[in-house]
Amino acid sequence: MRRISVFGATGSIGGNTLDLVARRPDDFAVVVLTGGHNIAGLAELARRHRPELVVTAHEDRLGDLRAALDGTGLACAAGAGAIAEAASRPADWVMSGIVGAAGLPPGLEALKQGATLALANKESLVCAGPLLMATARENRAIVLPVDSEHSAVFQALIGEDLAAVERVIITASGGAFRDWPLERMRAATPEQASSHPNWDMGQRITIDSASLFNKALELIETHEYFGIEPHRIEALIHPESMIHAMVGFNDGALMAHIGPPDMRHAIGFALNHPERRHLPVERLDFAALGQFSFRAPDETRYPALRLAREVMEAGGLAGAIFNAAKETALDAFIAHRIGFMQMAEVVEETLVKLSSTGLGNAVMTLDMVLDADRRARDCASSVVNQL
Ligand code: NAD
Ligand code: MG
Repeated sequence: MRRISVFGATGSIGGNTLDLVARRPDDFAVVVLTGGHNIAGLAELARRHRPELVVTAHEDRLGDLRAALDGTGLACAAGAGAIAEAASRPADWVMSGIVGAAGLPPGLEALKQGATLALANKESLVCAGPLLMATARENRAIVLPVDSEHSAVFQALIGEDLAAVERVIITASGGAFRDWPLERMRAATPEQASSHPNWDMGQRITIDSASLFNKALELIETHEYFGIEPHRIEALIHPESMIHAMVGFNDGALMAHIGPPDMRHAIGFALNHPERRHLPVERLDFAALGQFSFRAPDETRYPALRLAREVMEAGGLAGAIFNAAKETALDAFIAHRIGFMQMAEVVEETLVKLSSTGLGNAVMTLDMVLDADRRARDCASSVVNQL
């Protein structure tokens, strides 16, 4: 029996993880499940998986959670502190499936107790890559990437020498507006940005897919996780979302990872690592698919990609500022306060304003990251107010 915890259990990643877990009930014992405002959904998952502890992120929902778990005998807690504390409960494998920078503190706690961290929460690496990877090394804990592109790169690198890697190409579907003219994108609504052509994901990452902010985060994630130099990492539009990433080596060979757009592959790979086991994903019929297509992303439509490269070059706390400004801009877009293309303006202006305050190249601590995150949210909010 492996002891596993799922942070962000009520989300898209959490649901896919528990779908795989439910198929092999004799192999896993669930330690912790966490969620947010969806108390009914969290309680239903808890009744099915019988964890030791159930936690909601919201302190004011503890009474509701307790009532929803009435008669189950399951322990519950609430608040950001309770989530971080729950991550320090001994577990063999922890899914980091919370969305946003809120996923960082529990991820660090899980690594400190030596758990294998299955990392869907890319924001952890963007905000605090050096801190997260150092915490893993110091505690002899493993971080396994769950983002589909990074799982693909990880798999293409098995048995390979990193020094022989010439380039890494991560693909992007292009999201909801890939065939829209720029003028139409400027007037796009959150509702239009919230439907993805290929992947079924949470609302925030779906909108980030339309702006390519998701790909921007993933460029930084590739740099932080694999230690590959920024100029060797490319993003490529591939509307079919079948090739997730390609790794090019110094002899000209490319290893491509191909599979259907179903997150249960990347999650299942991390769950079964270092073994490979049967997974319930579609098997591709290439003759029926016929062809794959590719095009270069147009950076006038997708300024997020340029910003990501600037962030990688700057290093230090630039990633934390970039992510926090992006989260603030996304909230403002969802609230209809700014336009779709203005999200990148808010992020760029925040980066410019805060860069002069120093991005810090000292050893990174969680306090430094949280402070940069707070300053960037304040600064981005005032930029939003001036637009
Ligand atoms: P989602 O919105 O479907 O679920 C988010 C989960 O996080 C929910 O359980 C929610 O309750 C919880 N949550 C939200 N805010 C919280 C907070 N402040 N504190 C604690 N918990 C909070 O999101 P998702 O699509 O499952 O994405 C989760 C993470 O995985 C994100 O970092 C995303 O970028 C990454 N990811 C998702 C996919 C996908 O297919 N959905 C693919 C690759 C990477
Ligand atoms: Mg991805």
